[in-house]
Amino acid sequence: MGVGKTTPDELLFSLIEVNFREWSQIEKVRAEMKWKARLDRHEVGKLPKYQLKVKFKWLPKEFATYINVQNSLCEKCEPPRILRASHFLDHGIVVPDPWKLIEEIKYSMESTETGEGKKDRDESLRLSSEIIQIHMDKMRKFIDAKYK
Ligand SMILES: [Zn+2]
Repeated sequence: MGVGKTTPDELLFSLIEVNFREWSQIEKVRAEMKWKARLDRHEVGKLPKYQLKVKFKWLPKEFATYINVQNSLCEKCEPPRILRASHFLDHGIVVPDPWKLIEEIKYSMESTETGEGKKDRDESLRLSSEIIQIHMDKMRKFIDAKYK
């Protein structure tokens, strides 16, 4: 059970480049901004956000954003829960986890493969961004909605 829970994340981190030092500094700034806004009783402004970088060339930068979103907290739940694919499902939104997303991208690349062999990089990136965008839109729509 324990292994099953941590392994996917470890594998995931092997796909992306993370600067933990930078990330934790940004998290600290975010926490301070939120705290200050609460004390001053005003809405917190635009918070800085750490952006992961993708190592694989055929995965566009949107993939890192996707992982970021699925690692953020659900602000509609109390206590907050991490917005994994399974939690989106709790809210009735069907989106793949990053692993299924990769599978989906691979599959669509193979099925659109021409007889001439491998797609060039631009084409692969365009195709994978399109797929990611479809799911991203669903997640954003949910996150931006004001209802609880
Ligand atoms: Zn929730």
